[in-house]
Parts: sequence; C-alpha cells; structure tokens
Amino acid sequence: MSKILVTGGAGFIGSHTIVELLNEGHEVVVVDNLCNSSLESLSRVEKITGKKVTFYKADIRDKKALEDVLAKHHCNACIHFAGLKAVGESVEKPWEYYENNISGTLILLDVLRNNGCKNIIFSSSATVYGNPAQIPITEECPKGECTNPYGWTKSMLEQVMMDIQHADPEWNIVLLRYFNPIGAHPSGMIGEDPNGIPNNLMPYITQVAIGKRAELGVFGNDYDTPDGTGVRDFIHVVDLARGHVSALQAIERKCGLAVYNLGTGHGYSVLDVVKAFIRVNGVDIPYSIKPRRAGDIATCYSDPSKAERELGWKARYGLDEMCRDSWNWQKNNPNGFAK
Ligand code: NAD
Ligand code: UDP
Repeated sequence: MSKILVTGGAGFIGSHTIVELLNEGHEVVVVDNLCNSSLESLSRVEKITGKKVTFYKADIRDKKALEDVLAKHHCNACIHFAGLKAVGESVEKPWEYYENNISGTLILLDVLRNNGCKNIIFSSSATVYGNPAQIPITEECPKGECTNPYGWTKSMLEQVMMDIQHADPEWNIVLLRYFNPIGAHPSGMIGEDPNGIPNNLMPYITQVAIGKRAELGVFGNDYDTPDGTGVRDFIHVVDLARGHVSALQAIERKCGLAVYNLGTGHGYSVLDVVKAFIRVNGVDIPYSIKPRRAGDIATCYSDPSKAERELGWKARYGLDEMCRDSWNWQKNNPNGFAK
C-alpha cells in the first residue's frame, strides 16, 4: 500500500483511476482546481468504494499550495492528470494551454523533487505520434508533428520528463500514451461530464441519445479506411484506470524511464461505434456525414503488447461494454454531475 498524489483526480480519467487505486488498497490525496470537473465526482467515488478521498482544491501552478499538501502528506508517487485537454480550444488559446499544462507540470515536478518524491506517472496521449509512421503503433514509433497546441504540450512535457530523468536517474517516470478512452464505471455513478458541446465522439453520441443534440455529425467518410470514417482505438476508461495501478509496479521496481501505450489494439471506425451503440442500447442515433475535421488522421490504433509483457496489463472490456457503460452513465445522469 502506498500514498499517491493524484493531480486532476476529480476529472474523468482521474476519478475512475482513484476507484481502482482505493480498491487495491492505496491511499490517495487529490489536488484539483475543479476548472473542468465537479467535487461531486469524488463523493461518488467514496460511495462506490466505501473509502475516503483526501481532497485539496488547488491549482498545480500554485507552488505554495502544492508545498503545503506535500508537507502534510508524504506521498510515494504522483499520478499527474491535471491539464487542459480540449483540442479545438487549444488552437484558440495556445498561451493558456502552454501556461497551464507546461508551467503547471514544471512547478509540480519541482515540488515533488524538493519533497523527495521522484516517482511520477504522466497522462500522455497517442496524439504525440502525429500521423503515425506505422499501424499498429508501438512505443518505438517515432513521435510526429502534432496538429494543435494541446498535442504539443503532451509531446513537450514528455521531452521535459525524459531529460529530467536522464539528468537524475533517481526519478522513475512512466509516460502513459492513452488512445481513446470512453465508457464509464459500470455502477453508472461516475463518467465523462463535458462542459458545453462535446468535442469527442462518445459524449456527443450519448447526448444525441438523451435528446440534448439532434444528430451526430460524422466528420468525413472519404478516409482510406474500411467504411471511409476515421478509425480509433477506443478503450474502456476502467481498463485505462487499471493501467495506472499496473504502472505503479514499474515505479516500485525502479523503472527509470518507461513508456507504454494504453489501448486495446483494435481499431473501430466512427460508424462501427455508432452501430454498436444503437445495437447494444436499443436507442437510435441519427447522424449525417459532415466534412472532415481539421487535424484529424484516418487511422490510429495501438500495439499494446509492451504493457502486457512488462506490466501484466491488458484491456478486458470490448466495444459493446464501452457503449453500454457510456449510456448507463448518461441516462442515469442526464445533466452529468450537476444536481
Ligand atoms: P478532465 O478534464 O476530466 O480532467 C482533468 C482535471 O484536471 C480536471 O478535473 C481539471 O479540473 C483539472 N485541472 C486542469 N488544470 C488544472 C490545474 N492547473 N490545477 C489543478 N487541476 C487542474 O480530463 P481527463 O479526460 O480526465 O484527462 C486527464 C488527463 O489525461 C489530461 O491530462 C488529458 O490531457 C489526458 N488525456 C486525456 C484523453 C481523453 O481522451 N480524455 C486522452 C489522452 C490524454
Ligand atoms: N468524430 C465525429 N463526430 C464527432 C466527434 C468525433 O465524427 O462529433 C470522429 C473524429 O473525426 C474521429 C473520431 O470520431 O475520427 C474520434 O474523435 P475524438 O474527438 O473522440 O477523438 P480523437 O481521436 O480526435 O482524439
């Protein structure tokens, strides 16, 4: 058992990861400024697990606040989710994205090392591969050109952490490159709760299903893919969450720097997802074909075998369960965490 500092723990992936950490007997200390989440998610986590979550409302750019938290709690490792993540918004507000994600992470890393906690798991993304040189994507695949500032923050922060670990091998740093997390906890009590119009596919589909949006726009059907629509590696958020618990093992055995893809290894098209959602949930999803969305690539899916080999981690859920659990969350919480 260990004590884990979780930044951004009130968010979508953070809240699901905390459930898995608590279930495995870890203790968590959460720091989140709630800029894109609600504290209600953590009360739901407490209900699901029957365990307490220690929470601090603080910004990771606030050095003093972080120092106070780490002075109070000796943490063995940090899982770092905090960051802004809306691709389109990052194009409109690049300074805000670089400042929040990069300055925030630099401050966090400084406070961690000053407190002797040189163990961190970082939320990276498949976006660092750019238009991938090979499919399925292995960790050896070279990083590519990102198409937006959000992606660059991930790519740059990976480089920052690699350099820091190289200069000071006491650091253990795990970079987790997520593919496309969807789904929700099977209890239906926590899930993805985007502000405003969803940018991502699954929350848009569930809002169409609940009647909040009239129809789904499918961005392009002329890609070089089996049905012409984009292909992605959708992964159940509970599987992704379990991946973080497994990554702690890498830290325990002093991995130095380690990079893992977290995906299922299967590519599904946008229309595969729409059809699975309709079939599994028995609801209709009207859609129409729209132009391609700027910056999108045709196909992106992982080779996740390194994580299986080295961490014993493998995704367990399939697309049907992802569709079932996303809908279960949305229909039980039509307004997300808002009461
Ligand atoms: P989220 O927005 O639900 O969670 C991020 C959390 O960080 C939020 O609770 C937000 O309030 C908090 N936060 C943001 N800036 C902060 C700051 N300066 N100080 C303190 N807290 C701050 O997003 P998520 O989907 O749970 O993603 C978690 C992480 O995983 C992010 O770093 C994201 O970029 C990364 N990621 C997400 C996806 C995805 O599709 N969801 C894919 C790849 C990588
Ligand atoms: N997509 C879509 N309509 C939407 C949102 C997304 O057709 O309203 C497509 C998008 O073009 C991509 C796939 O769904 O091919 C996944 O997009 P998402 O934004 O969920 O994740 P990304 O892979 O871009 O990170």
